[in-house]
Amino acid sequence: MFGQPPADLYPTENTPGLRVRAGTRYTSSQGDYMCGGCGAEDHANGDDNVKALVDEYTDHKKACGGRS
Ligand SMILES: [Zn+2]
Repeated sequence: MFGQPPADLYPTENTPGLRVRAGTRYTSSQGDYMCGGCGAEDHANGDDNVKALVDEYTDHKKACGGRS
């Protein structure tokens, strides 16, 4: 509906979470997260780095107390 952010919007304080975009022939894949519990954030480019970022975010969520 009106005002709905696009799915590939970067995470912000208002919409914390993990965003991953697959790369194309011309761009590398990208990953970004912002933790809704403590505000920690990180960014990565490239398949290997994005995979590491996803693991990091998963671990962080556990360490951060599970708030989202
Ligand atoms: Zn956190």
